[in-house]
Amino acid sequence: MTEDMNKTSPDYVRLSLAAAMTLGLRSGLFYRGARLHCLNLLLTYEGGCRARCAYCGLSAGNGSGETENFIRVEWPVFSVEEVLSRVRLSGHGLERACISMVMHPQALSHATGLTRYLDRELGLPVSILVNPSTIREGDLEALREAGADMATVAVDTATETLFDRYRGRKAGGPHRWDRYWRTLEEAAIVFGRDKFGCHLIAGLGESEKEMVQTIQRVRSLGGRSHMFAFYPEPGSRLEEAAACAPSRFRRMQLARFLIDYGLAASGDMEYDEQDRLVCFGMEASALDDLVESGRPFMTSGCPGVMHECACNRPFGDGPPGDIRSYPFQLEAEDIHLVKKQLAIYSEQPAALKEPGL
Ligand code: SF4
Repeated sequence: MTEDMNKTSPDYVRLSLAAAMTLGLRSGLFYRGARLHCLNLLLTYEGGCRARCAYCGLSAGNGSGETENFIRVEWPVFSVEEVLSRVRLSGHGLERACISMVMHPQALSHATGLTRYLDRELGLPVSILVNPSTIREGDLEALREAGADMATVAVDTATETLFDRYRGRKAGGPHRWDRYWRTLEEAAIVFGRDKFGCHLIAGLGESEKEMVQTIQRVRSLGGRSHMFAFYPEPGSRLEEAAACAPSRFRRMQLARFLIDYGLAASGDMEYDEQDRLVCFGMEASALDDLVESGRPFMTSGCPGVMHECACNRPFGDGPPGDIRSYPFQLEAEDIHLVKKQLAIYSEQPAALKEPGL
């Protein structure tokens, strides 16, 4: 048992390594000068998260429950007071805070209390990454009244079959697809258009068409998708699986941007016989201009005051040498690489094995 196992929420939280570096609580420099604009906090409990998502290092089903890895990076534990005292100092460039719930009986009450506290103390907009398996009707209203500015649901998989396999019944986990979508529908009502989002992980075995249809489903509710590339997380049951192929991720990123910003709809897009995107439903020269801008390939997440995406999670879905979501404006050589990746059709979707149960 690590020393951190005695430091649990609500007095303690995990802080993404990027946020800890931003606040000077950990040393280090970001590759290519990337800067984080979101204070990403994660509730923490003895034994880790009690769900069993096959791709997550926090899952109780990964064997130890003591890992500190989540979305591939270290999440060290700090007291809430220490974090807040650092945030109160100016110069960190933070434009949002986010609280991620995990599967634990007290997570909702702790998240609600922490939301109220951060809203009052920091003056930053607060996102809450809710866990539909631990909330009931009316809880989203309570979170909004506590000060949450946005709510997000991590559906993660593009299809019900994959959801069931990697986090639902077949994985021995508590999460249910229908419940997740019901929560997104409630978030649309409680938080309103463009004030809620859906986390999706590309590369868990879905086709490009399936991912595009799911992104459209979120947008049709009024939300936006925050899409990550699957990159195997040490300590998870999928740690040996292949990462999402860059070519597939680039095409899904481009489609997501078009759908989320109303430039095209999934019905305008065309696919080949393997359900890979071959037409994006936008006039060629306008599409070329958009690709040249690099914007579709930057991290997607909750917005900031100055930045389109405050939550840019530097290198959260791929290492600096193999970037999937760019946490900064792309430069000419990045655009060149992205254009090459977009045109590759030889990379296959990962054939992920069933997680060991
Ligand atoms: S995109 Fe970032 S800020 Fe928004 S809910 Fe997800 S983790 Fe939090």
